[in-house]
Amino acid sequence: MGDVKLENVTKRYEDVTAVDNMNIQIHDGEFVCLVGPSGCGKSTTMEMVAGLTMPTEGTVHIAGREVTNLPPKDRGVAMVFQNIALFPHMDVYDNISFGLRLRNFEKDEIDRRVDKAAEVVQLEGMLDRMPDEMSGGQRQRVAIARAIVRQPDVFLMDEPLANLDAKLRVHMRTELQRLHKDLETTVIYVTHDQAEAMTMSDRIAIIDGGQLQQIDPPLECYNQPANLFVAGFIGSPSMNFVEGEVTENGFTSEYMDVEFDPSNYGVSAGDKVTLGVRPEDIYPAESGRSISSPTGEIRTKTDVIEPMGDEIFIYLLLSEEVETDLEDPAASNQLLISVPPDSDVEEDQDMSVVLDRNKIHLFDTESGQAIEHSLVASPAASGASGTSGAESDD
Ligand code: ADP
Repeated sequence: MGDVKLENVTKRYEDVTAVDNMNIQIHDGEFVCLVGPSGCGKSTTMEMVAGLTMPTEGTVHIAGREVTNLPPKDRGVAMVFQNIALFPHMDVYDNISFGLRLRNFEKDEIDRRVDKAAEVVQLEGMLDRMPDEMSGGQRQRVAIARAIVRQPDVFLMDEPLANLDAKLRVHMRTELQRLHKDLETTVIYVTHDQAEAMTMSDRIAIIDGGQLQQIDPPLECYNQPANLFVAGFIGSPSMNFVEGEVTENGFTSEYMDVEFDPSNYGVSAGDKVTLGVRPEDIYPAESGRSISSPTGEIRTKTDVIEPMGDEIFIYLLLSEEVETDLEDPAASNQLLISVPPDSDVEEDQDMSVVLDRNKIHLFDTESGQAIEHSLVASPAASGASGTSGAESDD
């Protein structure tokens, strides 16, 4: 049983609180990614599970046993790190079996485990190669095989693919998922790459400032982000945010209004809210007619156009001059939308757009907490909203 529980875990380094009262429960066999920006506390959290760092407060349980103060070797965990540390003078067999030989396992048992692990990571036939005769991806597979032969309750992986080139990373991503399917062992995986987290995880734990923001399946984090941080972090390109205020009839801001019945969402006139909408949920007005609940039209002007091959990103301006603030994306007058690759668009042309009401998120601007993820979530709201909706106020 490889379940892992962090209870009220805090780690302080003098004046830095690296991890702040973390509570996470990971089930046996789950693949959980810890994601967040650099310095948010991912590695420190992982190190406390591994036993490389002791918490200042709180407890760590693995497989139902408290391990808070146990050394790494007594925790039933195996680790794979970003920097692949193979012994350069040992061949693949010796590298994979090193830990088992150190623990005086029988030769037959070592051979059996090495063969099985080599099969899982597809290194059969390469056991006598030296590390300098192998590619980066193959060396990383040796490191993974070395973890597999330990037969741990839990695999801990800290950015194991970060040093590989982009193509190999995508390939190894699939291999790790296959490995997890085969071994059914709990995996805790640290990454700053949200694409990795989205594709591999059963659940994603999003961390910011040492605090857990949300832990949920990837699509739930995408569709129902708990707060502004998660909404902005998960999804590339990022969700559009517009700061404004609740009125008697919905939402108003400097450049756009969206009509809805505030009483359906527990907000009232005067409340400061931030509206969030993903690039794929904004449509040029004519194509937006096909969606079930568009807002009214919002007048914009196209600015930069980025053809990506499978889609086109269009930066739209809600007023004449560009106003951007990297620190506060919600204060910008831009909307980023994604349209099909065959769309006929040019820079500096007028374009009216509509938002898909079903996909509009509302957040409390001050606390950042999500209020609602669909403005037609309840039948009452859907009946009240109609299609007359928003209007440009420029
Ligand atoms: P992440 O893995 O998300 O990039 P870390 O867990 O490495 O973040 O670090 C979280 C915070 O704790 C950072 O501010 C970092 O500078 C600090 N920190 C980590 N390890 C130490 C340490 N050994 N001594 C002092 N500060 C540390």
